[in-house]
Amino acid sequence: MPKLVQYRHRCIGCAVCCAMQPRYWRMSRKDGKATLLNADLKKSVYVLGVSNQVAEEMVEVAEACPVRIIKIF
Ligand code: SF4
Repeated sequence: MPKLVQYRHRCIGCAVCCAMQPRYWRMSRKDGKATLLNADLKKSVYVLGVSNQVAEEMVEVAEACPVRIIKIF
């Protein structure tokens, strides 16, 4: 299963990911960073297992993130 990874501590809060895929991303009112919904926190990065189809959809999001902190493995 592909993994969607976010290095959240480096998020600058631009909200592009939320605009593109609101079912998976939400802006936090607490710290202004994007939260990857339902993700697990592993060694200070957020990880979510996704289907191949979702992984493909997230490629555009990963490329649009201005600080390139969204990865797909
Ligand atoms: S696109 Fe990147 S920098 Fe912008 S809110 Fe999402 S994770 Fe943060």
